[in-house]
Amino acid sequence: MSVLEAKPQEYVCGSSLPTGPEELLVTARKVWLGKTTLVARALPDRAIRMIGAWCFLDHYGPEDVSDAPGMQVPAHPHTGLQTVSWLVEGEVEHRDSLGTQAMVTPGTLNIMTAGHGIVHSEISPVDKPPTLHGLQLWVALPDDVRESAPRFDRYTDLPIIERPGVRGQVLIGEIDGVRSPAISFSPLVGADLTLEPGTAVDLVTDPAHEHGVFVVSGEVTTGGVVAATTDQLIYLGTGRGAVTVAAGDAGARVLLLGGEPFAEEIVMWWNFIGRTHEEVAAFRAQWEHRDGAAGTERFPPVITRAERVMEAPVMPTVPLKPRPRRPPERQPPPSEGGR
Ligand code: MN
Repeated sequence: MSVLEAKPQEYVCGSSLPTGPEELLVTARKVWLGKTTLVARALPDRAIRMIGAWCFLDHYGPEDVSDAPGMQVPAHPHTGLQTVSWLVEGEVEHRDSLGTQAMVTPGTLNIMTAGHGIVHSEISPVDKPPTLHGLQLWVALPDDVRESAPRFDRYTDLPIIERPGVRGQVLIGEIDGVRSPAISFSPLVGADLTLEPGTAVDLVTDPAHEHGVFVVSGEVTTGGVVAATTDQLIYLGTGRGAVTVAAGDAGARVLLLGGEPFAEEIVMWWNFIGRTHEEVAAFRAQWEHRDGAAGTERFPPVITRAERVMEAPVMPTVPLKPRPRRPPERQPPPSEGGR
């Protein structure tokens, strides 16, 4: 997954930390991913930039791709983050500059740790299933590991969490006593939960973490009074030893996300995470000159240089500074350049 807007915003995230429980409803904004796929982007949001180290959340589909190309994201670079790919339906082929060629399928977790630098493409296979539906999240890497060697990890046997009225898989970290083996570099949690109609579940969570509940489908109530529907995120702040999620009459599928508040200030632009505007600009320049020695060192080709490649957009001169966490009024969504 990649940011494909013509003029992506530069976000400064972190540094303003939550101070306790809160309830804030965020509605994902619709962003075109190329010409074919419309995605709902819940993170980063003007009001809530991150949940723990989770810094990016795209939800795409369900989309009928039987007469459409499906996902067509050509080779593009990443730095300083992990991509977490999670499909609900369909198939997407992942290729990267480590030589990985992996089919992303429902229930299989694929985590690409960019570290120092990586290049990948995400393309629907020609003989794909008729429906494409999935999520991609990014996790910011802490400073001490963000220049580490890139790697790709795949988990085909994630632990099942099953409670009365609720079934799901723990993607990362531990929720209600169920722990995933997936690789993470900061205290983090993520779970995909399906709730039967009208059920409510209390899940034990770490009060030191901040949490959020993203609605993939259906309608839920959580935290207290806030109700949310598909493509909405309920941000819950920190200080909760349990999170209650209740489904509406049609049931619901949610992604429960959490993590230790990310105290480092990061700069996020296009597909890069750095610590300063200048550092991100240097990543961009190395991507532009990827055939040169310095560019190739950070961004080797995916399979061959013949692979279709995405050019970097122009960088803005003014970054979006973090907003104070309070007052928690919903901010208007940023305007998307180049729609
Ligand atoms: Mn990507």
